[in-house]
Amino acid sequence: MNSLKPNENIRYLSRKEKATISRLRPQHAPLKYHLNRINPQYPLMCPLCNDQFETTNHLLLHCPKLDNLRQDLLPPTPITNILYSTTDQLKNTLKFYHMAMGGRANAHRLLD
Ligand SMILES: [Zn+2]
Repeated sequence: MNSLKPNENIRYLSRKEKATISRLRPQHAPLKYHLNRINPQYPLMCPLCNDQFETTNHLLLHCPKLDNLRQDLLPPTPITNILYSTTDQLKNTLKFYHMAMGGRANAHRLLD
């Protein structure tokens, strides 16, 4: 177990969990910045803080609206600690991502 390379810890996740981590690693999560590259009608800004482009890095590392959640679930930077770490950390990263996406949906409703 100890000889596992960090990247291999993804093997212990479910298929759905693996798919999400595999989209987050190359910045291909369905966030505004990525969606905008596919369809320019999508706004680029983060719906939570409204003042940064919503990239994977922004969501995982910088969005001020996610500071408390980030403190609870994510290790300090660099991003490799978040996306290429132990299986337990990858599960916390997924929890963070899903809670952030939930918060995002609610923020959208509040802004409408
Ligand atoms: Zn933000």
